[in-house]
Order: sequence, then structure tokens, then C-alpha cells
Amino acid sequence: MNPFEYREGVLYCEDVELLKVAEQAGTPCYVYSSAAVLERYRTYDEGLAGAPHRVHYAVKANGNLALLRLLAQAGAGFDIVSGGELYRVLQAGGKPGDVVFSGVGKTRDEIEYALNEGIHSFNCESEAEIGLISALAVRLGKTAAVALRVNPDVDPATHPYISTGLKENKFGIDIAEVEDVYQRAASLPGVRLTGVSCHIGSQLLDAAPLVEAARKLLALVDRLRGRGIAITELDLGGGLGVPYEPGNARPDVAAFLSGIKDLVAGKDLFLMFEPGRSIVAEAGALLARVLYRKRNGDKEFIIVDASMTDLIRPALYEAHHQILPLRQSKFGSVTADIVGPVCESGDFLAENREVANVLPGDMVAAMTAGAYGFVMASNYNARPRPCEVLVDGAEWHVVRRRESLADLVRGEE
Ligand SMILES: *Cc1c(COP(=O)(O)O)cnc(C)c1O
Repeated sequence: MNPFEYREGVLYCEDVELLKVAEQAGTPCYVYSSAAVLERYRTYDEGLAGAPHRVHYAVKANGNLALLRLLAQAGAGFDIVSGGELYRVLQAGGKPGDVVFSGVGKTRDEIEYALNEGIHSFNCESEAEIGLISALAVRLGKTAAVALRVNPDVDPATHPYISTGLKENKFGIDIAEVEDVYQRAASLPGVRLTGVSCHIGSQLLDAAPLVEAARKLLALVDRLRGRGIAITELDLGGGLGVPYEPGNARPDVAAFLSGIKDLVAGKDLFLMFEPGRSIVAEAGALLARVLYRKRNGDKEFIIVDASMTDLIRPALYEAHHQILPLRQSKFGSVTADIVGPVCESGDFLAENREVANVLPGDMVAAMTAGAYGFVMASNYNARPRPCEVLVDGAEWHVVRRRESLADLVRGEE
């Protein structure tokens, strides 16, 4: 489902008219569709039906408490990469026992926090980290369940979208060395080696590299079991992409999961995934108001009140977000840069883009902004971070209020 559609020329999210949200909540403003988030989560959960599994939503994609609560109530687990994300999950009512802790630089404080809360397991990225987790667990009188994050070195020549699953990358432990790491870790008193995990990259529009990684990890599980290490869990990470540009391909999540189920059939493995972007990206949009139009030489600019401090993906990755008017224009289209107020040339939402010929006072939406949007927002230029709105059918609520000027100086003296 696409929760955003035009009805008689005005853009809706589910049954809510976005112009009303922009007027009442103000701009810039993130809007999320709860139905779309739940539908994407269920695509994973139902796609894995019949196989023992848990889907761990990757909190870093969008950590708003209302979204986390929605997913927790639907039965999701969570993949976290910091103590702060664990705090968010717990505040939202998530169960610590459904949390996996990933990331290459977990601190002592974060590990102790996670051990005390009783998370499900750690995805470990180095031998030194496993040693620290073991020592801290022993001191707390606990045993930590651990999966090693394997770097499967999936061939980039055949799969150009891979970005974290290669040898030369900081993530994971080289698959050629990982068996010896398991063997040495097996004698540590504070850890139980329960799993094998990987996460090979993000925004993969083709699932083939993930299947290739799964095959490599399954062969590894067999070898580890052969050495007497009783692996019971296989975590294949996240990474499936979404079409940011209309008409682009989208990965068939259900077909991918069905293929994985076939691969692991009869292997007695609990299956885990950590999708982030593919759950929330398409459920969200960033609303902005047009402030000014201006022309410099041959270039046309549409200056809006949202900037790289609200949505940094275009500035950071030259990412594409479709820009739609909240009311379809009677004045045709224009090719322009859609830019924000921040003092950086990189502050744009779109460059050289044909968009509706919107005028000052009109509202626009940057689409597919539900993932890696608000979570990367900053206060640069002393800009308060935007509010966030959750839509459910014909209802909508502000689930994070806009920051105030007082918020900007909180904690300073
Ligand atoms: C970022 C991340 C994810 C989620 O990735 P998406 O591309 O958003 O699905 C999952 N697992 C780990 C370890 C990550 O770092």
C-alpha cells in the first residue's frame, strides 16, 4: 500500500488531509502512516510464518516512541546500536528479551546496561568486544548470549549495491577467520555462543547478495556445529531497499523470505532479521512550506522552511526524495533547486528537479522520508528540530512536539 495519495487534487496520508496537518502542527513536520508501518512489518512477519523467527526492527532508522510502541504491540523485536536506543525501546514498552544489540563500538556502560536489562543477545564485531562482554557478564553473575557478526565478503562485482559486507570494511569479522574466533570465545566463562549474524549493507534493491550471504552463513553454521559449537540462531540483518524514485524497482520481500525459509528448512535454526528502512521509509514524508522563489542567473530556486537539519539525506548521500505539492498546482511545473534556509551550499532537498510550480505559502512534501530522516536531524544554525505526527486512519496526533527555543539551550550554562 502507498498511504499517500491525491484526492481531488490534495495530498492525503491515509484519510488525513496533509494541508490540515501542515497548518495545525506547523512546518517542517514529519508525518508517518501507522497502517503503512504495520503493513511492512507484517510482510516480514507473515513472510516468515511456519519458520521459528523474530523480526527485529532496526531502531536507528526511526526511533520515535510512538512508532516503537506500534511495532512492539505488533510483536516486533528490536535491533539497537546504542544504549540510548535500548532506553527508547524500554520507554516504548518493548521487551528487553526481544532486543539484539549490534554495532562495532559498544562501550562498557552500554554493555552493562544491556546485561542488567536482560537483552536477548549481542551481535559482536570483534574478539576484544566478546572478551569485554564476558568479563562484565561474569562480574554481574550473568551469561550473555552472543552471535558473531560475520563479514561474508559477498562479491561486489556481481552485486554493486553492497556497502558493508566486504573484507575492507570496518564491520563484522572476516568469514575466513571467524571460526577460530568462535573456537577461542567458546572457552570464555561469561558468554554463550548461540548465533551467527550478518548485515551486509543498506538500500539493496536486489535480494540476491543477501541470499548469497545466507548460503555462506549456513555453511559456517554447519562447520561450527561440527566443532561442537551449538549454534541455534541465524540473523541475516536488514538492508532491503525501497524505491525512492517513482517507477524504480522494489525488492520482493515475501519472495526473498520464502527463499530463505527453503534454505534453512530442516536446519533447526531460529531465524532473525533486522529491517529498518524497508519498514518505515515509505510510511513517512516531511512537510515544508514554500518561503520564497528566486532566480540566480539561469537557476530557479524554491526556498522552503525545511533544510538539511531536518532531512540530511540529499546533502549527505545525494539521495533522491520525490517532492510533491500538498495541493496540485494550476500553474504547471518548473525545474528548480528546492533548498532550505541553512548557510551551506549543500543544503538542498532536491537539485535540478522538475516539480510543481509552487509559490510562497504553498506546502510541499519530501516523500519516502520515514527512515533516516528525523533521527539524523540536528540543531545546526540553532534550528529547533521539527515535530512528528502519526496518522491512524482519519486521526492524527503529534507524537513529538516541535522543539522550542528553550529546548535549544537546555543543559547549557
Ligand atoms: C543499519 C542496520 C540495520 C538496518 O538496515 P536497513 O538498511 O535500514 O534495513 C540492521 N542491522 C544493523 C546491524 C544495522 O547497522
